Amino acid sequence: MSETPEKTSVFNRALLKLSGESFCRSGESGISMTAVAALSQQLKRAYETGVQLAIVTGGGNILRGKEFSAFSKSINAPTAHYMGMLATVINGLALQDALENIGVPTRLQTAIRMEGVAEPFIRRRCVRHLEKGRVVILAAGTGSPFVTTDTAAALRAREIEADIVLKATKVDGIYSEDPMKNPHAVRYPSIKFQDVLSQNLQVMDAQAFHHCMEHKIPIIVFNYQKDGNLDRVLAGEKIGTRVVPNDEPASAS
Ligand code: UDP
Repeated sequence: MSETPEKTSVFNRALLKLSGESFCRSGESGISMTAVAALSQQLKRAYETGVQLAIVTGGGNILRGKEFSAFSKSINAPTAHYMGMLATVINGLALQDALENIGVPTRLQTAIRMEGVAEPFIRRRCVRHLEKGRVVILAAGTGSPFVTTDTAAALRAREIEADIVLKATKVDGIYSEDPMKNPHAVRYPSIKFQDVLSQNLQVMDAQAFHHCMEHKIPIIVFNYQKDGNLDRVLAGEKIGTRVVPNDEPASAS
């Protein structure tokens, strides 16, 4: 019997990037299992749409290498980045247990080998897990310092041939200007990669963004804090902002 639930998602395989901030209470740091449990309920509903779901965890709720090495002179920058990558594993472990506790089958794979804790990231094995209906949590970023988990998300999306990158944020999408500063800023329902660049808008870190643009992997930026938004994105509703390849039309609504 197949473990895969009936499919209602318009996407076959999605790569969801969860920043570290989704693992803690707003404005705090560290891990809040209350926040992780709430997040996991949303992810369970996403899983029930039948999408093949891979999740890249961030670590900023615990430590960001760049900030930590700038603040603490007695640490070398690469070490601080390795600490940041380990932070993403801590989040991955928390997410794995929270999901499994509510009946979602998962695998945790890390870009830095740590066999006693998780499987190593092996592309073909990751894809196999996805095909079997397991949510795959990808932690430790790329395994190399000086980049962010946004870049890991873009690279993994390409490796596993995800048809969409979902960037979970606290804002409703991409705006013409910062909506906190200008209440008249408008949200784009969709926008081309090249227009994001020409308007100097912030979507993901530059390396991640360019990777997605070059390989025509669309990105949806959406507010994960609004309950139900993730399922609605997966159902094909026009939630947030969709960043589309330059040769595709960007719709006005
Ligand atoms: N990191 C790294 N290589 C990677 C991914 C992450 O060195 O491939 C480090 C980097 O220091 C980063 C930290 O891990 O600041 C945590 O990741 P990130 O800042 O992307 O987390 P988020 O902002 O998504 O919470």
